[in-house]
Amino acid sequence: PRLANQIAAGEVVERPSSVVKELVENAIDAGSTRVEVELENGGTRLIRVRDDGSGIGENDLPLALSRHATSKIISLEELEGVASLGFRGEALASISSVSRLELVSNLDEDPRSGWRVVAEGRRMEPRVTPAPHPRGTSVTVRDLFFNTPARRKFLRTEKTEFGHVEEAFRRQALSRFDIGWVLRHNHKTLHQLPPGVDPISRERRLRALLGKGFLENALHLDLEVGGLRLWGWVGLPTHSRAQADQQYFFVNGRVVRDRLVAHAIRQAYRDVLFHGRHPVFVLYLEVDPRVVDVNVHPTKHEVRFRDGRMVHDFLFSSLHRALAEARP
Ligand code: ADP
Ligand code: MG
Repeated sequence: PRLANQIAAGEVVERPSSVVKELVENAIDAGSTRVEVELENGGTRLIRVRDDGSGIGENDLPLALSRHATSKIISLEELEGVASLGFRGEALASISSVSRLELVSNLDEDPRSGWRVVAEGRRMEPRVTPAPHPRGTSVTVRDLFFNTPARRKFLRTEKTEFGHVEEAFRRQALSRFDIGWVLRHNHKTLHQLPPGVDPISRERRLRALLGKGFLENALHLDLEVGGLRLWGWVGLPTHSRAQADQQYFFVNGRVVRDRLVAHAIRQAYRDVLFHGRHPVFVLYLEVDPRVVDVNVHPTKHEVRFRDGRMVHDFLFSSLHRALAEARP
């Protein structure tokens, strides 16, 4: 089974940023209110994600590392309305098959309790040993791809890999304002984002993650029609230094890159006059989870809407209206 994990790892684990994404999703799923991401050497030497979530019990620790062991799906009906981010039970098994992984967790309020399990490449140490830890979980991934030289060769410079991690972190931090976040690289704290869902806290986080220029030229919107809600910020055309990569779209809190969504946004911009301007946005679409399908691809950046036409039209008309009103 460890070999199967290594093969599956190819799908899920491409570089340090994919590890960060999976570990952070698990921390979110565990109901954490605070998530710390720590890296050394762009994540190639060390990635550690620490949370204050539900924790994992002694008996479940080894299970968490085995393939298709997920605590997140109980029944088929539940698959219909998947609300949690991970539900395939593959990430930890895959990551541990291509790294040296340590999992320490405690589901007790007592910080003197806690358990630890380690896996190294295709070998998992069978013993779970006591290891004190505050309530929550720490996953440490060392020496990514140490046993798969072919994959290791595809890693880029420390700066490039860290850039990808920071982008993954940015997306996650923008997806959950109610969670406090920390990002550290080579023992330096780069982001420390307190939780807060009020407008001031949200905008403070946007400024910290996207720079001052974004908000200065952005329009805030919040529209709801027939069970669909769209809220967030769109950059206005005066924003000439718009960065092409500042495009964030979330569906029910999940980061999504979707052609239908991109098309609706592009059309709205083009229609209102902003030729040649690159749309920049941080937008949140909230829909009934039963009208989206999340199980399209293992990395889960794609969604499938049951009624794509309706979603497209809602996005287009909402943005069109907001942009047209703001036109100078
Ligand atoms: P999935 O997230 O798809 O269930 P993973 O391999 O990512 O699969 O995780 C396996 C299981 O380990 C999860 O279902 C969960 O029970 C447990 N787990 C992993 N990370 C955490 C965490 N940070 N806090 C609590 N439980 C966790
Ligand atoms: Mg997961």
